[in-house]
Amino acid sequence: MFESLSEKLEGALQSVTGQGRINELNVAETMREIRRALLNADVNYQVAKEFTNNVKEKALGEDVLTSVTPGQQLTKIVYDELTRVLGGEHVEIEYAEDPPTVILVAGLQGSGKTTFCSKLAKHLRSKGRAPLLAAADVYRPAAVDQLQKLASGINVPVYTVSDDDGKPVQDAVRVAEEAVEEARNTARDVVIIDTAGRMHIDEAMMEEVSTIKSAVDPNEILFVVDSMTGQDAVNTAKEFNEQLDYDGVVLTKLDGDTRGGAALSIRSVVQKPIKFASTGEKLDALTEFYPDRMAQRILGMGDVVSFVERAQEQYDEKQAEKLQEKIRSEDFDLQDFYDQLQRIQKMGSVKDLLGMIPGVGRQIKDLDVDDDAFKHIEAMIQSMTPKERSHPEILNGTRRRRIARGSGVEVRDVNQLIKQFREMKKMMKTMSKLTGQGRSMNLKK
Ligand code: GDP
Repeated sequence: MFESLSEKLEGALQSVTGQGRINELNVAETMREIRRALLNADVNYQVAKEFTNNVKEKALGEDVLTSVTPGQQLTKIVYDELTRVLGGEHVEIEYAEDPPTVILVAGLQGSGKTTFCSKLAKHLRSKGRAPLLAAADVYRPAAVDQLQKLASGINVPVYTVSDDDGKPVQDAVRVAEEAVEEARNTARDVVIIDTAGRMHIDEAMMEEVSTIKSAVDPNEILFVVDSMTGQDAVNTAKEFNEQLDYDGVVLTKLDGDTRGGAALSIRSVVQKPIKFASTGEKLDALTEFYPDRMAQRILGMGDVVSFVERAQEQYDEKQAEKLQEKIRSEDFDLQDFYDQLQRIQKMGSVKDLLGMIPGVGRQIKDLDVDDDAFKHIEAMIQSMTPKERSHPEILNGTRRRRIARGSGVEVRDVNQLIKQFREMKKMMKTMSKLTGQGRSMNLKK
Protein backbone atom coordinates (compact mmCIF):
# COMPACT_ATOMS: atom_id res chain seq x y z
CA MET A 1 0.00 0.00 0.00
CA PHE A 2 1.34 3.42 -1.05
CA GLU A 3 4.81 1.94 -1.52
CA SER A 4 5.94 4.24 -4.29
CA LEU A 5 4.70 7.36 -2.49
CA SER A 6 6.35 6.24 0.75
CA GLU A 7 9.62 5.61 -0.97
CA LYS A 8 9.67 9.02 -2.64
CA LEU A 9 8.67 10.92 0.50
CA GLU A 10 11.25 9.11 2.55
CA GLY A 11 13.81 9.89 -0.14
CA ALA A 12 12.92 13.57 0.02
CA LEU A 13 13.19 13.65 3.80
CA GLN A 14 16.42 11.70 3.70
CA SER A 15 18.15 14.57 1.97
CA VAL A 16 17.74 16.72 5.11
CA THR A 17 18.37 13.88 7.53
CA GLY A 18 22.06 13.87 6.70
CA GLN A 19 22.39 17.60 7.29
CA GLY A 20 23.18 19.39 10.51
CA ARG A 21 20.95 22.35 9.88
CA ILE A 22 17.83 23.24 8.06
CA ASN A 23 17.78 26.50 6.22
CA GLU A 24 15.60 28.15 3.65
CA LEU A 25 17.64 26.65 0.84
CA ASN A 26 17.50 22.97 1.73
CA VAL A 27 13.90 23.23 2.94
CA ALA A 28 12.97 24.62 -0.47
CA GLU A 29 14.79 21.76 -2.17
CA THR A 30 13.09 19.18 0.03
CA MET A 31 9.71 20.78 -0.61
CA ARG A 32 10.30 20.56 -4.36
CA GLU A 33 11.01 16.86 -3.97
CA ILE A 34 7.96 16.33 -1.79
CA ARG A 35 5.76 18.16 -4.26
CA ARG A 36 7.15 16.01 -7.07
CA ALA A 37 6.48 12.88 -5.02
CA LEU A 38 2.89 13.95 -4.41
CA LEU A 39 2.22 14.83 -8.04
CA ASN A 40 3.76 11.55 -9.15
CA ALA A 41 1.39 9.84 -6.77
CA ASP A 42 -1.47 11.50 -8.67
CA VAL A 43 -2.35 13.84 -5.82
CA ASN A 44 -4.53 16.77 -6.87
CA TYR A 45 -2.32 19.71 -7.89
CA GLN A 46 -3.92 22.20 -5.53
CA VAL A 47 -3.68 19.79 -2.62
CA ALA A 48 0.00 19.11 -3.32
CA LYS A 49 0.78 22.82 -3.53
CA GLU A 50 -0.99 23.65 -0.30
CA PHE A 51 0.68 20.68 1.37
CA THR A 52 4.22 21.80 0.62
CA ASN A 53 3.46 25.45 1.39
CA ASN A 54 2.14 24.51 4.82
CA VAL A 55 5.10 22.26 5.59
CA LYS A 56 7.57 24.92 4.54
CA GLU A 57 5.89 27.58 6.62
CA LYS A 58 5.87 25.38 9.69
CA ALA A 59 9.45 24.20 9.20
CA LEU A 60 10.83 27.70 8.95
CA GLY A 61 8.65 29.07 11.71
CA GLU A 62 9.19 26.47 14.36
CA ASP A 63 11.74 26.46 17.15
CA VAL A 64 14.02 23.58 16.50
CA LEU A 65 14.73 21.29 19.39
CA THR A 66 18.30 20.34 20.07
CA SER A 67 17.16 16.94 21.29
CA VAL A 68 16.01 15.73 17.87
CA THR A 69 17.66 16.02 14.48
CA PRO A 70 16.34 18.45 11.86
CA GLY A 71 15.40 15.49 9.67
CA GLN A 72 13.31 13.99 12.44
CA GLN A 73 11.61 17.26 13.11
CA LEU A 74 10.81 17.84 9.45
CA THR A 75 9.43 14.30 9.30
CA LYS A 76 7.12 15.18 12.17
CA ILE A 77 5.89 18.29 10.35
CA VAL A 78 5.25 16.30 7.16
CA TYR A 79 3.48 13.69 9.26
CA ASP A 80 1.22 16.33 10.84
CA GLU A 81 0.38 17.73 7.40
CA LEU A 82 -0.34 14.26 5.99
CA THR A 83 -2.67 13.62 8.91
CA ARG A 84 -4.42 16.89 8.20
CA VAL A 85 -4.99 16.26 4.49
CA LEU A 86 -6.22 12.77 5.26
CA GLY A 87 -8.90 14.32 7.44
CA GLY A 88 -7.35 14.93 10.87
CA GLU A 89 -9.64 13.05 13.17
CA HIS A 90 -11.21 9.65 12.73
CA VAL A 91 -14.94 10.00 12.04
CA GLU A 92 -17.35 7.31 13.21
CA ILE A 93 -20.54 6.15 11.56
CA GLU A 94 -23.63 7.97 12.86
CA TYR A 95 -26.00 5.56 14.51
CA ALA A 96 -29.73 6.20 14.83
CA GLU A 97 -31.06 6.89 18.32
CA ASP A 98 -34.06 4.85 17.38
CA PRO A 99 -32.85 1.71 15.53
CA PRO A 100 -32.51 0.51 12.91
CA THR A 101 -29.65 2.65 11.68
CA VAL A 102 -29.95 2.84 7.91
CA ILE A 103 -26.72 2.90 5.90
CA LEU A 104 -27.00 3.54 2.18
CA VAL A 105 -24.00 2.42 0.12
CA ALA A 106 -23.39 3.92 -3.32
CA GLY A 107 -20.63 3.88 -5.92
CA LEU A 108 -19.69 2.82 -9.42
CA GLN A 109 -19.89 -0.78 -10.57
CA GLY A 110 -16.73 -2.69 -9.78
CA SER A 111 -15.66 -0.26 -7.05
CA GLY A 112 -16.03 -3.00 -4.45
CA LYS A 113 -19.42 -1.92 -3.14
CA THR A 114 -20.97 -5.35 -2.63
CA THR A 115 -17.79 -6.68 -1.03
CA PHE A 116 -17.72 -3.64 1.25
CA CYS A 117 -21.34 -4.13 2.34
CA SER A 118 -20.51 -7.65 3.51
CA LYS A 119 -17.31 -6.51 5.17
CA LEU A 120 -19.19 -3.77 6.98
CA ALA A 121 -21.82 -6.28 8.12
CA LYS A 122 -19.08 -8.49 9.52
CA HIS A 123 -17.34 -5.54 11.15
CA LEU A 124 -20.56 -4.31 12.79
CA ARG A 125 -21.36 -7.78 14.02
CA SER A 126 -17.99 -8.00 15.71
CA LYS A 127 -18.99 -4.80 17.51
CA GLY A 128 -22.11 -6.42 18.85
CA ARG A 129 -24.59 -5.11 16.32
CA ALA A 130 -27.15 -7.15 14.38
CA PRO A 131 -27.02 -6.07 10.74
CA LEU A 132 -29.35 -6.87 7.87
CA LEU A 133 -28.16 -6.57 4.29
CA ALA A 134 -30.55 -5.29 1.62
CA ALA A 135 -29.89 -6.38 -1.97
CA ALA A 136 -31.05 -3.27 -3.81
CA ASP A 137 -28.66 -3.89 -6.71
CA VAL A 138 -31.53 -5.51 -8.58
CA TYR A 139 -30.50 -5.28 -12.22
CA ARG A 140 -27.63 -7.74 -12.18
CA PRO A 141 -28.97 -11.07 -10.88
CA ALA A 142 -25.36 -11.97 -10.16
CA ALA A 143 -25.14 -9.06 -7.74
CA VAL A 144 -27.88 -10.46 -5.51
CA ASP A 145 -26.28 -13.93 -5.66
CA GLN A 146 -22.91 -12.46 -4.82
CA LEU A 147 -24.27 -10.64 -1.78
CA GLN A 148 -26.09 -13.76 -0.59
CA LYS A 149 -23.00 -15.87 -0.97
CA LEU A 150 -20.81 -13.43 0.90
CA ALA A 151 -23.40 -12.94 3.64
CA SER A 152 -24.01 -16.64 4.22
CA GLY A 153 -20.33 -17.03 5.07
CA ILE A 154 -20.72 -14.54 7.90
CA ASN A 155 -24.22 -15.50 8.97
CA VAL A 156 -25.86 -12.21 8.16
CA PRO A 157 -29.36 -12.29 6.59
CA VAL A 158 -29.96 -10.66 3.20
CA TYR A 159 -33.28 -9.06 2.34
CA THR A 160 -34.36 -9.59 -1.28
CA VAL A 161 -37.66 -9.37 -3.16
CA SER A 162 -38.21 -12.00 -5.86
CA ASP A 163 -41.00 -12.58 -8.36
CA ASP A 164 -42.79 -15.91 -8.82
CA ASP A 165 -39.91 -17.23 -10.92
CA GLY A 166 -37.46 -16.48 -8.16
CA LYS A 167 -35.93 -13.58 -10.10
CA PRO A 168 -35.16 -10.36 -8.23
CA VAL A 169 -37.95 -7.83 -8.61
CA GLN A 170 -36.48 -4.80 -10.31
CA ASP A 171 -37.62 -2.27 -7.78
CA ALA A 172 -34.70 -1.04 -5.71
CA VAL A 173 -36.76 1.48 -3.74
CA ARG A 174 -39.19 -1.24 -2.66
CA VAL A 175 -36.34 -3.53 -1.56
CA ALA A 176 -34.80 -0.75 0.49
CA GLU A 177 -38.06 0.30 2.15
CA GLU A 178 -39.12 -3.24 2.94
CA ALA A 179 -35.68 -4.12 4.28
CA VAL A 180 -35.95 -1.30 6.83
CA GLU A 181 -39.36 -2.59 7.85
CA GLU A 182 -38.02 -6.14 8.06
CA ALA A 183 -35.18 -4.98 10.32
CA ARG A 184 -37.64 -3.27 12.62
CA ASN A 185 -39.78 -6.43 12.83
CA THR A 186 -36.86 -8.77 13.40
CA ALA A 187 -34.92 -6.58 15.83
CA ARG A 188 -31.99 -6.01 13.47
CA ASP A 189 -30.38 -2.73 14.47
CA VAL A 190 -28.50 -1.79 11.27
CA VAL A 191 -29.66 -2.05 7.64
CA ILE A 192 -26.95 -1.89 4.99
CA ILE A 193 -28.38 -1.14 1.56
CA ASP A 194 -26.27 -2.24 -1.42
CA THR A 195 -27.36 -0.18 -4.43
CA ALA A 196 -26.78 -0.61 -8.17
CA GLY A 197 -23.74 0.97 -9.76
CA ARG A 198 -22.95 1.59 -13.39
CA MET A 199 -19.67 1.61 -15.20
CA HIS A 200 -19.92 5.39 -15.44
CA ILE A 201 -21.99 7.99 -13.74
CA ASP A 202 -25.35 8.25 -15.45
CA GLU A 203 -28.60 10.02 -14.74
CA ALA A 204 -30.68 6.91 -14.12
CA MET A 205 -28.29 5.53 -11.52
CA MET A 206 -28.07 8.82 -9.66
CA GLU A 207 -31.79 9.25 -9.76
CA GLU A 208 -32.39 5.81 -8.36
CA VAL A 209 -30.00 6.30 -5.46
CA SER A 210 -31.53 9.71 -4.76
CA THR A 211 -35.00 8.18 -4.73
CA ILE A 212 -33.88 5.49 -2.29
CA LYS A 213 -32.36 8.25 -0.18
CA SER A 214 -35.64 10.14 0.06
CA ALA A 215 -37.61 6.94 0.65
CA VAL A 216 -35.61 5.55 3.56
CA ASP A 217 -33.99 8.71 4.95
CA PRO A 218 -30.65 7.02 5.77
CA ASN A 219 -28.62 7.92 8.85
CA GLU A 220 -25.47 7.46 6.87
CA ILE A 221 -24.66 7.48 3.17
CA LEU A 222 -21.32 5.94 2.31
CA PHE A 223 -19.69 6.43 -1.06
CA VAL A 224 -17.42 3.58 -2.17
CA VAL A 225 -14.54 4.28 -4.53
CA ASP A 226 -11.66 2.31 -6.00
CA SER A 227 -8.55 4.15 -4.83
CA MET A 228 -6.47 2.74 -7.67
CA THR A 229 -8.28 5.00 -10.11
CA GLY A 230 -6.46 8.06 -8.71
CA GLN A 231 -7.84 11.39 -9.89
CA ASP A 232 -10.80 9.66 -11.58
CA ALA A 233 -11.77 8.50 -8.11
CA VAL A 234 -11.63 12.09 -6.90
CA ASN A 235 -13.80 13.33 -9.78
CA THR A 236 -16.35 10.56 -9.24
CA ALA A 237 -16.37 11.36 -5.52
CA LYS A 238 -17.12 14.98 -6.34
CA GLU A 239 -20.01 14.16 -8.67
CA PHE A 240 -21.61 11.69 -6.29
CA ASN A 241 -21.32 14.22 -3.52
CA GLU A 242 -23.04 16.91 -5.53
CA GLN A 243 -25.96 14.58 -6.11
CA LEU A 244 -26.12 12.72 -2.83
CA ASP A 245 -24.37 14.86 -0.23
CA TYR A 246 -23.01 11.70 1.36
CA ASP A 247 -21.53 11.42 4.85
CA GLY A 248 -18.38 9.43 4.29
CA VAL A 249 -16.04 7.84 1.81
CA VAL A 250 -14.91 4.22 1.67
CA LEU A 251 -11.61 3.73 -0.12
CA THR A 252 -11.26 0.26 -1.58
CA LYS A 253 -8.38 -1.70 -3.09
CA LEU A 254 -5.76 0.16 -1.11
CA ASP A 255 -3.77 -3.08 -1.19
CA GLY A 256 -3.15 -2.54 -4.89
CA ASP A 257 -2.67 1.22 -4.69
CA THR A 258 1.02 2.09 -4.62
CA ARG A 259 0.48 5.80 -5.21
CA GLY A 260 -2.16 7.03 -2.79
CA GLY A 261 -3.31 10.01 -4.88
CA ALA A 262 -7.02 9.43 -4.27
CA ALA A 263 -6.54 8.91 -0.55
CA LEU A 264 -4.59 12.14 -0.20
CA SER A 265 -6.84 14.29 -2.37
CA ILE A 266 -10.40 13.22 -1.65
CA ARG A 267 -10.78 14.80 1.76
CA SER A 268 -9.52 18.20 0.66
CA VAL A 269 -11.41 18.22 -2.63
CA VAL A 270 -14.75 16.84 -1.42
CA GLN A 271 -14.67 17.89 2.25
CA LYS A 272 -16.08 14.58 3.41
CA PRO A 273 -14.26 12.23 5.78
CA ILE A 274 -12.84 8.88 4.72
CA LYS A 275 -14.45 6.44 7.15
CA PHE A 276 -13.23 3.04 6.00
CA ALA A 277 -10.36 1.56 4.05
CA SER A 278 -10.56 -1.76 2.30
CA THR A 279 -7.34 -3.63 1.71
CA GLY A 280 -8.16 -6.96 0.11
CA GLU A 281 -10.79 -9.31 -1.23
CA LYS A 282 -11.23 -11.24 2.01
CA LEU A 283 -14.02 -10.15 4.31
CA ASP A 284 -11.78 -9.18 7.18
CA ALA A 285 -9.73 -6.82 5.01
CA LEU A 286 -11.53 -3.72 6.26
CA THR A 287 -10.23 -1.10 8.66
CA GLU A 288 -11.74 1.98 10.16
CA PHE A 289 -9.87 4.91 8.72
CA TYR A 290 -7.60 6.80 11.11
CA PRO A 291 -5.77 9.65 9.34
CA ASP A 292 -2.86 9.64 11.81
CA ARG A 293 -2.22 5.93 11.50
CA MET A 294 -2.39 6.15 7.75
CA ALA A 295 0.12 9.01 7.76
CA GLN A 296 2.43 6.89 9.89
CA ARG A 297 2.20 4.05 7.44
CA ILE A 298 2.83 6.31 4.48
CA LEU A 299 5.97 7.65 6.08
CA GLY A 300 7.05 4.22 7.27
CA MET A 301 8.19 5.91 10.46
CA GLY A 302 5.28 6.25 12.79
CA ASP A 303 7.67 5.15 15.48
CA VAL A 304 9.86 8.20 15.12
CA VAL A 305 6.82 10.42 15.29
CA SER A 306 5.90 9.10 18.72
CA PHE A 307 9.52 9.31 19.79
CA VAL A 308 9.78 12.97 18.89
CA GLU A 309 6.49 13.68 20.62
CA ARG A 310 7.64 11.99 23.78
CA ALA A 311 10.96 13.83 23.66
CA GLN A 312 9.09 17.10 23.23
CA GLU A 313 7.10 16.31 26.35
CA GLN A 314 10.25 15.73 28.40
CA TYR A 315 12.66 18.36 27.11
CA ASP A 316 12.31 22.00 26.52
CA GLU A 317 14.82 24.02 24.56
CA LYS A 318 16.46 25.55 27.66
CA GLN A 319 17.03 22.21 29.36
CA ALA A 320 18.45 20.76 26.18
CA GLU A 321 20.87 23.67 25.80
CA LYS A 322 22.00 23.40 29.41
CA LEU A 323 22.67 19.73 28.94
CA GLN A 324 24.70 20.37 25.81
CA GLU A 325 26.71 23.00 27.59
CA LYS A 326 27.53 20.59 30.40
CA ILE A 327 28.64 17.95 27.96
CA ARG A 328 30.78 20.46 26.13
CA SER A 329 32.46 21.77 29.24
CA GLU A 330 32.86 18.24 30.63
CA ASP A 331 30.76 19.12 33.67
CA PHE A 332 28.40 16.23 33.07
CA ASP A 333 28.42 14.33 36.37
CA LEU A 334 26.60 11.39 37.92
CA GLN A 335 23.79 13.65 39.13
CA ASP A 336 23.16 14.74 35.51
CA PHE A 337 23.34 11.14 34.46
CA TYR A 338 20.73 10.31 37.09
CA ASP A 339 18.44 13.12 35.87
CA GLN A 340 18.72 11.89 32.28
CA LEU A 341 17.84 8.36 33.31
CA GLN A 342 14.73 9.67 35.02
CA ARG A 343 13.69 11.60 31.92
CA ILE A 344 14.28 8.66 29.61
CA GLN A 345 12.15 6.47 31.83
CA LYS A 346 9.35 9.01 31.75
CA MET A 347 9.37 8.63 27.97
CA GLY A 348 8.34 5.00 28.29
CA SER A 349 9.71 1.53 28.87
CA VAL A 350 13.06 0.69 27.33
CA LYS A 351 11.35 -1.76 25.03
CA ASP A 352 8.86 0.88 23.94
CA LEU A 353 11.65 3.31 23.19
CA LEU A 354 13.73 0.79 21.28
CA GLY A 355 10.59 -0.16 19.38
CA MET A 356 10.22 3.41 18.16
CA ILE A 357 13.43 3.21 16.21
CA PRO A 358 12.37 2.28 12.67
CA GLY A 359 13.28 -1.27 11.84
CA VAL A 360 14.04 -2.20 15.43
CA GLY A 361 10.46 -2.60 16.64
CA ARG A 362 9.75 -5.69 14.61
CA GLN A 363 13.00 -7.36 15.60
CA ILE A 364 12.62 -6.96 19.34
CA LYS A 365 8.93 -7.75 19.59
CA ASP A 366 9.54 -11.08 21.32
CA LEU A 367 12.53 -9.93 23.31
CA ASP A 368 12.44 -9.56 27.07
CA VAL A 369 13.93 -6.17 27.90
CA ASP A 370 14.77 -5.56 31.54
CA ASP A 371 13.58 -2.19 32.82
CA ASP A 372 15.09 -2.98 36.24
CA ALA A 373 18.56 -2.33 34.86
CA PHE A 374 17.81 1.36 35.37
CA LYS A 375 16.58 0.79 38.90
CA HIS A 376 19.92 -0.64 40.06
CA ILE A 377 21.86 2.22 38.53
CA GLU A 378 19.54 4.73 40.14
CA ALA A 379 19.82 3.04 43.52
CA MET A 380 23.61 3.22 43.37
CA ILE A 381 23.63 6.89 42.45
CA GLN A 382 21.10 7.61 45.19
CA SER A 383 23.45 6.00 47.71
CA MET A 384 26.22 8.44 46.85
CA THR A 385 26.79 11.76 48.54
CA PRO A 386 26.39 14.89 46.40
CA LYS A 387 30.16 15.29 46.44
CA GLU A 388 30.66 11.75 45.17
CA ARG A 389 28.17 12.36 42.36
CA SER A 390 29.98 15.43 41.13
CA HIS A 391 33.48 14.03 41.71
CA PRO A 392 33.31 10.29 41.00
CA GLU A 393 37.11 10.17 41.14
CA ILE A 394 36.97 10.22 44.96
CA LEU A 395 35.15 6.89 45.00
CA ASN A 396 37.70 4.68 46.72
CA GLY A 397 37.23 1.08 47.96
CA THR A 398 35.58 2.05 51.24
CA ARG A 399 33.11 4.35 49.55
CA ARG A 400 32.29 1.79 46.89
CA ARG A 401 31.57 -0.88 49.54
CA ARG A 402 29.29 1.53 51.37
CA ILE A 403 27.40 2.36 48.17
CA ALA A 404 27.01 -1.33 47.29
CA ARG A 405 25.61 -2.05 50.75
CA GLY A 406 23.28 0.95 50.63
CA SER A 407 21.81 0.05 47.25
CA GLY A 408 21.67 -3.74 47.66
CA VAL A 409 24.13 -4.58 44.89
CA GLU A 410 27.63 -6.11 44.71
CA VAL A 411 30.77 -3.98 44.75
CA ARG A 412 31.53 -5.15 41.23
CA ASP A 413 28.26 -3.53 40.07
CA VAL A 414 29.41 -0.21 41.51
CA ASN A 415 32.78 -0.67 39.82
CA GLN A 416 31.06 -1.35 36.54
CA LEU A 417 28.86 1.72 36.80
CA ILE A 418 31.85 3.96 37.48
CA LYS A 419 33.77 2.42 34.60
CA GLN A 420 30.86 2.84 32.21
CA PHE A 421 30.30 6.40 33.32
CA ARG A 422 33.96 7.19 32.68
CA GLU A 423 33.77 5.69 29.20
CA MET A 424 30.59 7.58 28.49
CA LYS A 425 32.26 10.87 29.44
CA LYS A 426 35.19 10.05 27.20
CA MET A 427 32.83 9.41 24.33
CA MET A 428 30.95 12.64 24.98
CA LYS A 429 34.21 14.54 24.90
CA THR A 430 35.10 13.04 21.52
CA MET A 431 31.65 13.69 20.12
CA SER A 432 31.70 17.23 21.37
CA LYS A 433 35.03 17.86 19.62
CA LEU A 434 33.86 16.20 16.43
CA THR A 435 30.84 18.44 16.20
CA GLY A 436 32.93 21.55 16.71
CA GLN A 437 31.29 24.21 18.80
CA GLY A 438 28.31 21.92 19.33
CA ARG A 439 25.74 21.86 16.62
CA SER A 440 23.29 24.64 16.75
CA MET A 441 20.24 23.49 14.88
CA ASN A 442 18.24 26.64 14.84
CA LEU A 443 16.54 27.25 11.55
CA LYS A 444 17.99 30.22 9.81
CA LYS A 445 15.39 32.36 8.18
P1 GDP B 1 -19.29 -3.74 -6.93
O1 GDP B 1 -19.58 -3.93 -8.38
O2 GDP B 1 -19.01 -2.30 -6.63
O3 GDP B 1 -20.31 -4.31 -6.03
O4 GDP B 1 -17.89 -4.45 -6.66
P2 GDP B 1 -17.57 -5.87 -6.03
O5 GDP B 1 -17.80 -5.85 -4.57
O6 GDP B 1 -18.23 -6.93 -6.80
O7 GDP B 1 -15.99 -5.90 -6.25
C1 GDP B 1 -15.41 -5.90 -7.54
C2 GDP B 1 -14.12 -6.70 -7.48
O8 GDP B 1 -13.17 -6.05 -6.66
C3 GDP B 1 -14.29 -8.07 -6.88
O9 GDP B 1 -13.49 -8.98 -7.60
C4 GDP B 1 -13.77 -7.93 -5.46
O10 GDP B 1 -13.26 -9.14 -4.96
C5 GDP B 1 -12.70 -6.92 -5.66
N1 GDP B 1 -12.43 -6.12 -4.44
C6 GDP B 1 -13.31 -5.46 -3.67
N2 GDP B 1 -12.68 -4.82 -2.67
C7 GDP B 1 -11.36 -5.07 -2.82
C8 GDP B 1 -10.17 -4.67 -2.11
O11 GDP B 1 -10.19 -3.92 -1.13
N3 GDP B 1 -8.99 -5.14 -2.59
C9 GDP B 1 -8.91 -5.94 -3.69
N4 GDP B 1 -7.71 -6.35 -4.06
N5 GDP B 1 -10.00 -6.33 -4.36
C10 GDP B 1 -11.21 -5.91 -3.95
